[in-house]
Amino acid sequence: MKISVQTAMVLNLDKCIGCHTCSIPCKNVWTNREGAEYMWFNNVECKPGIGYPKKWENQQIHRGGWTLSSGRLRLTAGGRVHKGLNIFHNPDLPVIDDYYEPWDYDYARLIDSPSSRHQPSVRPRSRLTGKPMEVKWGPNWEDDLAGLAETGPGDPNFKNLEVQTYLQFRNVFMFWLPRLCEHCLNPACAASCPSGALYKREEDGIVLVDQERCRGWRYCVSGCPYKKVYFNWKTGRAEKCIFCYPRLEAGLTSLCAHSCVGRIRYVGVLLYDADRIAEAAAAPNEQDLYPTHLDILLDPHDPEVARAAAAQGIAANVLDAARRSPVHALIRQWRLALPLHPEFRTLPMVWYVPPLSPISSRAADPSAAGDLIDRMRIPVAYLANLLTAGDEAPVRLALGRLAAVREFMRTRRVEQRDDPAPLDAVGLDAAAVEKIYRLLALAPLEERFVVPTLPVRDDGVYARQGGCGFGEAL
Ligand code: SF4
Ligand code: SF4
Repeated sequence: MKISVQTAMVLNLDKCIGCHTCSIPCKNVWTNREGAEYMWFNNVECKPGIGYPKKWENQQIHRGGWTLSSGRLRLTAGGRVHKGLNIFHNPDLPVIDDYYEPWDYDYARLIDSPSSRHQPSVRPRSRLTGKPMEVKWGPNWEDDLAGLAETGPGDPNFKNLEVQTYLQFRNVFMFWLPRLCEHCLNPACAASCPSGALYKREEDGIVLVDQERCRGWRYCVSGCPYKKVYFNWKTGRAEKCIFCYPRLEAGLTSLCAHSCVGRIRYVGVLLYDADRIAEAAAAPNEQDLYPTHLDILLDPHDPEVARAAAAQGIAANVLDAARRSPVHALIRQWRLALPLHPEFRTLPMVWYVPPLSPISSRAADPSAAGDLIDRMRIPVAYLANLLTAGDEAPVRLALGRLAAVREFMRTRRVEQRDDPAPLDAVGLDAAAVEKIYRLLALAPLEERFVVPTLPVRDDGVYARQGGCGFGEAL
């Protein structure tokens, strides 16, 4: 057992208000530069929708991530031979129109225009060409379901659902999905890079691009199934979310998490068995990927794990943070958070608490036992396609637990009594409910973000894991 440390994030979609505040400090600090105008390391998508870049979830088009072939993990786009044959023309790259053409406004017209009968107007100008342009798409074009009638059928999460039903006004539903790099345990971006420029830091699992080794081949861009590596046209190199590592090293959380208005984000460390990554990512059945992923996460309260971690050089403050980790509680202990598209087989490490939604009268038989979850406006099958490769059971468990916590606390607050009935069905007790309620509703900053400081390195370089080139898992 090789114990490794991963900094991870959980986002509670039940509380995201789609304000995009998280994206702004990230943009201002990391990508407010020439060549990076179209990049949003953190973006917020409205679901249903096809997102940013367009149809990023559809690997039939983008060919990112891993597939299982004859029991072996292989990059979906192909390994050494594919890259050798296409090294000067990567056919799987998204183009700028899949993201959007970045623009600004001609604000000078407001001041410089000569006096006239009509107010001057500002026109959009391309930040790439400097010429006037017509705005046709943007990074949050589908916000509040705008354009859903056209883009909805392109959302792959409607698999096995009658999409047209959910595009009708009376059945429509929505929620927001903030996205950033998943800092995967089995990153397809790193495995795709012919130069070995992408690597995973040993200390905290953050995936980075070595700007000096990057040669601009862009296989990381197409290899990432979440489309979270970007090509900087000015520098000719790849860039991606760095999980605000200079802040993390100092014990602070990332900017997107710190600025989140809805307080939906949780950041902490997890311990996992690095020897079992390939085994977990190669589960034959896609719906087994969530359980196998969970299975390699270790319990930091287990004395045997703690002993082995200490023996393998994991610092005492990191072990302490793992024990107090809010992401460990949400992911492993209470099973409230689920991975995004585990079927991409990268073992992503930004997880999501699925959103509760209003009870709708759409259910065929509202009196049927145990149908509360089915009467919610957002179809369980849609959430399962997004979070558990279509397996509804984990989504039902998470939603059932969230609903039970809400009902228990409401009875306690309003009726001044405890009713354990809703808890029994979902395997929780009152003590667990109090902890979940505190973490999801009340927790101050120091409970939502438990980030251990890292020791300062003399050479300033943290250890690398991987950086492996042609198509092998780390
Ligand atoms: S999401 Fe995963 S594969 Fe994509 S850039 Fe991040 S670490 Fe790499
Ligand atoms: S700041 Fe928080 S609440 Fe607002 S969009 Fe981002 S994740 Fe959602």
